[in-house]
Amino acid sequence: MARLIIRGSPGQVQLLTVLRQECPACGERLHWRYENRRTVVTLGGMLGLRMRISCCENSSCEHYHRPYRPEAEGALVLPQHEFGLDVLALVGALRYQEHRSVPEIHAALVARGVGICERSVTNLVDRYDELLATALGDSARLRQELAAQGRVVLALDGLQPDVGHEVLWVLRDCLSSQVLLARSLLSSTCEDLARLLRQALQPLGKIPVVGVISDGQDTIRRAVAQELPGVPHQLCQFHFLRDAALPVFEADRHAKKLLKAQVRGVRPIERSVQGRDDTEAQVVRGYCSAVRSAITDDGHPPLDADGLRLKQRLEAVSQSLQRVVQKGGRGARHR
Ligand SMILES: [Zn+2]
Repeated sequence: MARLIIRGSPGQVQLLTVLRQECPACGERLHWRYENRRTVVTLGGMLGLRMRISCCENSSCEHYHRPYRPEAEGALVLPQHEFGLDVLALVGALRYQEHRSVPEIHAALVARGVGICERSVTNLVDRYDELLATALGDSARLRQELAAQGRVVLALDGLQPDVGHEVLWVLRDCLSSQVLLARSLLSSTCEDLARLLRQALQPLGKIPVVGVISDGQDTIRRAVAQELPGVPHQLCQFHFLRDAALPVFEADRHAKKLLKAQVRGVRPIERSVQGRDDTEAQVVRGYCSAVRSAITDDGHPPLDADGLRLKQRLEAVSQSLQRVVQKGGRGARHR
């Protein structure tokens, strides 16, 4: 089932990078050129986005120095929008599934901690209508733009607000950041999504889809395989990480706690050599400080997990200690 409600603590900052490694036009490696920042109002609070923009550096390429924005940006917020797609999807659901008025929607958003004025709610209802009215078939300008870039990298996102039962599906082109089609569907079976794909793809005519990015749900995978056979389908690292991060983070935190409990005895060992300056005392102090710095060393979860990092560092200390014991043992025999 589709779900995309963006949760973040206030002041949270997310770093987004371009998933594609190669220029879609010439195949040369893309280079990170600069960073863009924007702030998005989501249901989870203010979300800062740091986006690494990549460019093709091949001067003979038709896309030379053309900026590529991170694919995940459009899953969070539409171009030139201040409010996240999750807020927009909720506004649409409250308006059209729950038949709420603008003042009622405003009150509901404020109650959820979204800083918004009533006028912005009216604008959001308009943006929602515009989004659902987006149809590539009706836009000659959009078709021209896509034809000029010669290819489409399709992203497929489903947002399910926690009211109503409909899922807002947004199909967009990652190269131009343009929305190709958006529909609110009550049912999201493989056949429903395949129909949605056909609707989005048909006006593309001969413009090829060279890749698909989604969160890789089974129904999406099957619909894409059916409608776009042979086209590479990448699991969005952003979705994947977000979904994987929480259980990984929890498990890692638990592991770190257990590991820390095992090395709690560092302080008495340090105390036992206090005031001594001989080699043995220095070695003991060295190992104790290695353990201490391992405990306080923080990783960057979930990719660089705290607990795993602590385990590696403690293992290194333990192996080193074993080598010392072995050497010490040999030394004793020689004496
Ligand atoms: Zn290129």
